[in-house]
Amino acid sequence: MNIVLLGPPGAGKGTQAERLSKEYSWPQIATGDIFRAAVSEGTPLGLEAKKYMDSGALVPDEIVEGIVFERLSKDDAKDGFILDGFPRSIHQAKALDEYLSEQGKALDIVLNLQVDAQEILERLTSRWICSMCGKIYNLKVNLPSRLCECGGEFRKRDDDTEETVKKRLEVYAKQTEPLISYYRKKGILVSVDGSASREDVFKQMVELIESQRKHA
Ligand code: AMP
Repeated sequence: MNIVLLGPPGAGKGTQAERLSKEYSWPQIATGDIFRAAVSEGTPLGLEAKKYMDSGALVPDEIVEGIVFERLSKDDAKDGFILDGFPRSIHQAKALDEYLSEQGKALDIVLNLQVDAQEILERLTSRWICSMCGKIYNLKVNLPSRLCECGGEFRKRDDDTEETVKKRLEVYAKQTEPLISYYRKKGILVSVDGSASREDVFKQMVELIESQRKHA
């Protein structure tokens, strides 16, 4: 199955994409993770992407699209993939459709995670990431004294400050939210209550994927 996870920043796309990827053995393709890895390696791509990421803006479409299509051409994505954080603009969505149709493929399902703006703001400003394994925690403390279950220390994402989070939510509303009606018109959008527990959200997604598979 070729899947897109849609939803505002902090809706739980990364957490769920990782679980779905383990469940189904389809690769999780997370553009934010690709950029963060490039930033920490200090590559030219990382230096360029950082300019946009730090301000909460989107990295230009041509850059993101090239990276995603190259990743999708890899062997492990031939039987299915889970896109997490892409597309984020109508331009990217159209480019993805075009790329897939050239390969004789199409998206099967777009899972739209719905969480209200206030909850998103709270989640993102209380989000901590393990510096070793990358596991995401929501901890409402300034600096957690405990360590991750793997022994790693917690750190904040550079763009999880209140100011940048607000900007990211504005960017989401303006550039990404129109994708909801874009995919609804195509008949492949299904909405999931993202404010439920991680376990319940996962179960809802598996049910939706299974029912889509039966009808495919
Ligand atoms: P994320 O980890 O998905 O929240 O992404 C972090 C940041 O990476 C975003 O705020 C953007 O600056 C950049 N980014 C990730 N995915 C995309 C995309 N599809 N298009 C443009 N910028 C992106």
